[in-house]
Amino acid sequence: MARHIDSVCKLCRREGMKLFLKGERCLGPKCAIEKRAYAPGMHGQKTQFRQRSSDYGLQLREKQRARRIYGVLERQFRRYFDIAVAQRGQTGSNLLALLEMRMDNLVYRLGFADSRPQARMLVTHGHFAVNGRRLDIPSAILKPGDVISVHETSRSSEYFKSIGQVLEQREVAGWLSLNAEALSGTLVAVPTRDQIDVPLEEQLIVEFYSR
Ligand code: SF4
Repeated sequence: MARHIDSVCKLCRREGMKLFLKGERCLGPKCAIEKRAYAPGMHGQKTQFRQRSSDYGLQLREKQRARRIYGVLERQFRRYFDIAVAQRGQTGSNLLALLEMRMDNLVYRLGFADSRPQARMLVTHGHFAVNGRRLDIPSAILKPGDVISVHETSRSSEYFKSIGQVLEQREVAGWLSLNAEALSGTLVAVPTRDQIDVPLEEQLIVEFYSR
């Protein structure tokens, strides 16, 4: 599947905000947006933060921002939107809940990875199991009650041996539960909008696809 292969920091600079795609680096002075807070490219400094944008421009920007935060390609994102429309409740909240229940996002939210891209890589490499069976599909949508754990064969790796202590200090959102000792976590419930701390105006995304 095609992925973004250019520097992910350019995505943050394009969106004019931190998308936290590089773990700890995002919190320090080396963050590219701290040093160059304008759009990438030759004319970036002139074009960033233009004052006026059409409704369409705002809607498109918000949709792109959501895709980049969660690392989802257009076709798949559109599929999530269609599922969200078919569900009960508010489409925008349904969409964000679906994105949050992706396997790679859950690995990130539980603290097994510093960023969503890193979580995606760990999942793809087969380091996790769901309900005891290996699952290496980052886009898999889990359901309440599902338990994610570090796969038996990966527990002896240096990375997962050291992460236990990190997890013990970790606080997870109310819709998740974490068992640091067992290197596992559970998706307890579908997250509600107020439990999802991403800076997105999901209504703009709904409007984008409803044109
Ligand atoms: Fe974005 Fe992180 Fe790069 Fe900063 S360091 S620009 S937050 S990906």
